[in-house]
Amino acid sequence: LAAHGECIAVLGAGPAGVMAALGLHRLGYPVQVISQWRRFDAIEGVSARVMQALAQQGLTHTLSMAVPAAEREVHWGEAPVVRNREFLIDRPQFDAALRADLAAGSVPLREARVRQLHRLDAGWDIELDDGSRIAASRIVDARGRQAPQSGAAQRGPETVSLLCRWRATPGAAASAVERRDDGWTWLARLPDGTCYWQWVTGAQLPGRAELPAWCAAARQASALARRFFPEDPGAAVTVHARSSTSTLSEEGFDGRLLRVGDAAMAVDPLSGNGIFQSLSSALQAPAVLHTLIRDPSREALALDFHRERVRHLFLRFARMGRDFYRQAPAVGSFWPPRQQWPDEAPLHYDPDPSQLRVAERPVLEHGEVVARQVVVTADQPLGVWHVDGVALAPLVAALPQQSLRQVLTEQVPQASWQAVGQWFLSQGVP
Ligand code: FAD
Repeated sequence: LAAHGECIAVLGAGPAGVMAALGLHRLGYPVQVISQWRRFDAIEGVSARVMQALAQQGLTHTLSMAVPAAEREVHWGEAPVVRNREFLIDRPQFDAALRADLAAGSVPLREARVRQLHRLDAGWDIELDDGSRIAASRIVDARGRQAPQSGAAQRGPETVSLLCRWRATPGAAASAVERRDDGWTWLARLPDGTCYWQWVTGAQLPGRAELPAWCAAARQASALARRFFPEDPGAAVTVHARSSTSTLSEEGFDGRLLRVGDAAMAVDPLSGNGIFQSLSSALQAPAVLHTLIRDPSREALALDFHRERVRHLFLRFARMGRDFYRQAPAVGSFWPPRQQWPDEAPLHYDPDPSQLRVAERPVLEHGEVVARQVVVTADQPLGVWHVDGVALAPLVAALPQQSLRQVLTEQVPQASWQAVGQWFLSQGVP
C-alpha cells in the first residue's frame, strides 16, 4: 500500500468517521482522523440494530455507553401507546468512547478544526484552524451536518431543533415522544438525573436571549412534560438550536473525496435512525475506496455503488418519516409539508412477479465492488444478488420457460429450497 502512496484523512470523529477510519485501517491503509469536539451536549436514542452494528465492529467502549430505557411512550395519534424500547446515549460520553475505540484500534487522531480543503493534482492539502497543514491522498468527509454542502444538495422542509438539558434527581431511564401542533418533542431522562427535552419545529425562533423562556413556557404547557419532569429546573437549563433539515448531498463524491454519514445524508430526527444510517454508509466506504485504489478502471462502478446506496437509504427514511407524519392531523404550517415530502411513492411496493428482472448492478464481493447480474424489483431497485448463498439471476432468467418447482429442483441445492422458495413466494411467484 505504501507503494500506492496512499494516506487517507478522515474528517470528523463521530460514528461515521470512526467506523470508516477503523475499516480503512483494518485494510492496511495509513489513516489519520482529524476532528474537533461537538459544540453541544445532546442525548439521543438508538435501536438494538445500532447496538448490534457496534458489537459486530468491536466498538466495545462505545457499546458500553448506551443505557437501555424503559419502554418509549408515544403520544402521537389519538391515544398514547408504548412502543419498542430504545437505548439512550449521552453524546459527549458516546463521542469520547468512539475516540477510545479509535485509540484501541491504533488509529491516530488529530484534535483540530479543518478550515479548508485545497485540491492538488494527486490529493489534498488540508488547512487546519491553527494554520498547520496536512497532506492526504484521499479524504473521507464525515463532518456531519457541518460538512460544506453544495447548492445542489436536496433538502426537506426546513427544520430546527431546540435541545434543552438540565440536571434533576437521579432515577430510572425513560423516554417519550409527543406531537404538538407546531412540531414534536422528544423527552429523555438518564439514570444520573440528566433531563432532556428536544423540540423539533419549523417555527420562526425568537432571539437567542429569549429562547430559554420560550422553551420553558412550551414545556409547562405540556401535561406529559410536567409529569415526565416533575421537578422545575428554573433557569438551570442549557438551550442549543440545531439544524435538523433532511439533506442529501449527491455532489462531492469522487475517487478523491467520499462523503459518509450525515455529510452524505442527514435524515429527519423523527426517524431516530441517524446513527444507524451514518454507520451504514461508513461501513461500505472502505470497500469503495479499496476498490478504486486497487483497480482505477472500477472507480465509476465503486462510486455508483456508494451513491446509489446512500440515495436509497435517504429516500427510505424520508418516506418512513412522511408516513409517520401522516398519522397526525394536517394542522398548522408544520405538518402538511412533511406529510407530502419527499414524494408520493409508497415506502414499499406490493410484490409483482411481472416486475422481476435481471440487471447488472454493483455489489460487494470479497470486500470489493464488482458488477454482477442481480434481480431488480420495484421494492429493491438496487437488486438482490443472493438468497442463502444462491445467485437469483439465473433462476429468474429461467422462470419464463420453467415452473418455480422445476427451477428449484434443477438449479438449487436441496438445503436452500426453502429459503429460495420463500423468497420467490414473497415476490408473488406461484
Ligand atoms: P457527527 O456525529 O455529527 O460527527 C461529526 C464530527 O465531525 C463531530 O465530532 C464534529 O465536531 C466534527 N467536525 C465537524 N466539522 C468539523 C471541522 N470543520 N473540522 C474538524 N471536525 C469537524 N440519531 C439517532 O440515531 N438517534 C437520535 O435520537 C437522534 N437524534 C437527533 C436529534 C437531532 C435534533 C438531530 C439534528 C440529529 C439526531 N440524530 C439522531 C442524528 C445523529 O446525530 C447523526 O445522524 C449522527 O451523529 C451522524 O454521525 P456522523 O458521524 O455522520 O456525524
